[in-house]
Amino acid sequence: MSVYKRERERERSKKRKLRWQFFGEEFDVIVVGAGVMGSSTAYQVSKRGHKVLLLEQFDFLHQRGSSHGESRTIRSAYPEEYYYPMVMESYKLWEEAESHIGYKVYFKAQQFDMGPSEDKRLREVIATCQKYSVPHEILDRQQVSDKFSGSFDIPDNWVGVSSSDGGVIKATKAVSMFQTLALQNGTILKDCMEVKDIRKDGVKGGVWVYTSNGEKFWGKKCVVTVGAWTTKLVKTVSGIDLPIQPLETMVCYWKIKEGHEDKYAIGGDFPTFSSHGEPRIFGTPSMEFPGLIKVAVHGGYPCDPDKRPWGPGMALGSLKQWVEERLSSLVDSGEPVVTQLCMYSMTPDKNFAIDFLGREFGKDVVVGGGFSGHGFKMSPVVGRILADLVLIGEAKGVELKHFRIGRFEENPKGNFKDFLHH
Ligand SMILES: Cc1cc2nc3c(=O)[nH]c(=O)nc-3n(C[C@H](O)[C@H](O)[C@H](O)COP(=O)(O)OP(=O)(O)OC[C@H]3O[C@@H](n4cnc5c(N)ncnc54)[C@H](O)[C@@H]3O)c2cc1C
Repeated sequence: MSVYKRERERERSKKRKLRWQFFGEEFDVIVVGAGVMGSSTAYQVSKRGHKVLLLEQFDFLHQRGSSHGESRTIRSAYPEEYYYPMVMESYKLWEEAESHIGYKVYFKAQQFDMGPSEDKRLREVIATCQKYSVPHEILDRQQVSDKFSGSFDIPDNWVGVSSSDGGVIKATKAVSMFQTLALQNGTILKDCMEVKDIRKDGVKGGVWVYTSNGEKFWGKKCVVTVGAWTTKLVKTVSGIDLPIQPLETMVCYWKIKEGHEDKYAIGGDFPTFSSHGEPRIFGTPSMEFPGLIKVAVHGGYPCDPDKRPWGPGMALGSLKQWVEERLSSLVDSGEPVVTQLCMYSMTPDKNFAIDFLGREFGKDVVVGGGFSGHGFKMSPVVGRILADLVLIGEAKGVELKHFRIGRFEENPKGNFKDFLHH
């Protein structure tokens, strides 16, 4: 045998051994999907001393899911009052994670909600502020202009609600932070590993997780946090049909007219904001791209996450009009200067889906999906809840009835919400 051949044979046998060792590895918890929810979960589980494997189908920090980009808003002013305690716990957990990693991902701002005075969603926001004594002010058109130095202009029949707990989370940086913290706690991170099936081990207990490149891993427990792919993977694994609809959506950045940039900058009095009624709009102060402000529509068009249209259908007419009218003509409403595509995973009632998978998996597999375009801010508490569910079989301090996956069997529309016009 030639030297070259012998060398190749040695390499092959080394690889076989490594692979064998790897096949032999067992984990306390396998987390499938490394967006913000899976990464936060891996951090929370590994923080408690458990051995975790985090699997991602694409490259880590890719741009084909829901968690990439520069910014996400955080606010406690929610129309559904049960999200308030979850946001408040998340604030604490964001700060805790920042203190462990040593850099910032959360930047404080006020929150400003606005809309027609009779809008039900806006009224529920006010009710939540009242219920939890969130410092807030209800403002008319003139008061809005005075408070925000003329940067917003609302119609006479609208009201504004200014509240204290708003801000911006740096999105990709936050996902990377959770992954780094999980790694520091001993988590094994593997990307380019598409999970194609999860099966119960009837003899040994736990589950086997199979990837499309022919590998398999054993875990005592498994968490599925696969975003827009939730319906597909859950159907394959368990036969359960979850009504989680992926939407492709577009984030838009607009140019602030020259001389007005300071008015819209983070760190001043300009808030993170939500506009209720039609169209539903959200935005953040100027931060990631100096001189630009993020203003986008909350919504999108249905898509298959594996056959994305990549954006041709986004109609921007109503958004342009909103930018022109509500931002006091101080922002150029011609065209957005930077855009980025992303996906929402919508449930019919816009509530999260957080539950045990059940059936033959019992409490061994937990699902966290359907974050309906508003989950990022709560990823720390979602990670904590998913960790509780897999490790102790129940989640402390949170009412999970709103998030049960079985709710759609009882009513395809899910939980009743007055402002969703059921
Ligand atoms: C434009 C936009 C703006 C938003 N704004 C806000 C906001 O201001 N505030 C807020 O709170 N929230 C906001 N959200 C929502 C928030 O970003 C999402 O709720 C959150 O990112 C969802 O994270 P995820 O981990 O569930 O999904 P993802 O980030 O998509 O992660 C799922 C991961 O699983 C992987 N995966 C899928 N299938 C498999 C498989 N079979 N095997 C292995 N891996 C797999 C995917 O590749 C992906 O990386 C916004 C979302 C978008 C798109």
